[in-house]
Amino acid sequence: MTWTQELLKLLPGRVDVGTDVAAALGGDLNPVRQMRLLRGDEVSRPAALVRAKSAQDVQAAMRFAAGHKIGLVPRGGGSGVVGGVAAAGQDIVLDLRAMQAIGPVDRVSGLVTVQAGCLLGRLEERLAADGLTLGHYPQSIAVASLGGLVATRSSGQYSTRYGNIEQMIAAVELVTADGELVHLGRSPRRSLGPELWPLLVGSEGTLGVITAVTLAAWPLPEAEEIASYAFPGFAQGLEAMRRLTRAGLPLGVIRLYDRDDALHGFAGLLPEEGVGALLLLSCLGATEVAAAGIAAAKRIAEACGAVSLGPAIGRHWLATRNDVSEWERYLSAGVLVDTVECGATWTQLPQVYADVLTAVRAVPEVVAVFGHAAHAEAAGAGLYFTVAGVPLPDGDAEELQGRIWEVLLSAAGAAGASVGHHHGVGRMRQRWAWQERREELGLLERLRATLDPGRMLNPGALWSQ
Ligand SMILES: Cc1cc2nc3c(=O)[nH]c(=O)nc-3n(C[C@H](O)[C@H](O)[C@H](O)COP(=O)(O)OP(=O)(O)OC[C@H]3O[C@@H](n4cnc5c(N)ncnc54)[C@H](O)[C@@H]3O)c2cc1C
Repeated sequence: MTWTQELLKLLPGRVDVGTDVAAALGGDLNPVRQMRLLRGDEVSRPAALVRAKSAQDVQAAMRFAAGHKIGLVPRGGGSGVVGGVAAAGQDIVLDLRAMQAIGPVDRVSGLVTVQAGCLLGRLEERLAADGLTLGHYPQSIAVASLGGLVATRSSGQYSTRYGNIEQMIAAVELVTADGELVHLGRSPRRSLGPELWPLLVGSEGTLGVITAVTLAAWPLPEAEEIASYAFPGFAQGLEAMRRLTRAGLPLGVIRLYDRDDALHGFAGLLPEEGVGALLLLSCLGATEVAAAGIAAAKRIAEACGAVSLGPAIGRHWLATRNDVSEWERYLSAGVLVDTVECGATWTQLPQVYADVLTAVRAVPEVVAVFGHAAHAEAAGAGLYFTVAGVPLPDGDAEELQGRIWEVLLSAAGAAGASVGHHHGVGRMRQRWAWQERREELGLLERLRATLDPGRMLNPGALWSQ
């Protein structure tokens, strides 16, 4: 009997072998892979796809993979963009989307336990029914799973108020490489030695399979006040963003777009002149707090040279912020549209932004590059670049993508940035990630060797064998 036949017998009704479904779920939303799928080109497919329905199914699949020395690639929503899910022909993909249960909600403490395959949008709907929110709003909220968000160290649009995913986690349920089910952490905070669940945040499926997460939710805010401001240029806008973020305001969201990003996102809503950069912000919380916050924000922004554009642009952003349907149109037309993020301190941000634009514009096939700053925190913020390029007639999209990433992340790293803010490493960012973290790699290798001695968990992701 072949190993795939054994697997079919072990988990009846849960295994696909060699089907188109297995091919479609063998990767993520990396734009080059999307282009291939849209063109009907062949994409790599795993040897088998297992649809886990319970933690016990995950344990069975894990023991099977370990016993047969087969690579096992966990897959949540498949919305990653850096090749975190990219199964080779001999791997098993473990699809977790059927693990959707949302446990009882402790409304008093705001704690909820959710199975890893549950999509964030679904969880938010459930929490909203109790007047709660995690406050985690990545643009991919409808398609990203809780397990994937933890595994990639995600950050949402309101991270300035609610923190990044790691600030929301109370506990994690994990299946280890030898098939053991373990529970890590609990709420409230404790001082009983180092917690182990933070090791899973950003582990990208290489240290175990997350099967459930306990998260802390907040009451939905009573009020949110929105404002937008124009600045003569990105540098002035950054200085205002820095002061606003550090001023102790009840900020929900704060985002600064450069001129081209603003024109792209808000065409028709901006004045014809005078927008070198566009700042959107909101203040939220109790009604009086939100109102006082937005008034203080106005004072600070105007002292930095801002011109008020009113709330309409911010409302438009709120209504359309997760619509990326145009990407598919570009990709179908053969235009590579990619997004790359990095993080920098307030001191570094102006230089990182300027150097990245100069470097990317020097790639001949690039037709547009623009950026915005978001995810502001005390010491800095994330920078998010959108790049569009048209491969030459005899060129291919993957090669062009490689060159864009090369110049972009090399320029960002040279200017002092951290070369990844929230999309993770996957199979695309390893060179720059481990250049930046070279001192830590040895310890991480030891950790991985302990937790996954057979190296069967998501082989090739996060760091190479
Ligand atoms: C249009 C768009 C917008 C996006 N916006 C944001 C954004 O605003 N903020 C943000 O942070 N990200 C964003 N992303 C990226 C993506 O949504 C995140 O990386 C997300 O966390 C991936 O979750 P997923 O469930 O889709 O994971 P997948 O793509 O399925 O997997 C991602 C990685 O996590 C591992 N993994 C998945 N589930 C588990 C598990 N249960 N246990 C262990 N490992 C697991 C996989 O092996 C893989 O390495 C965006 C992506 C798109 C396409």
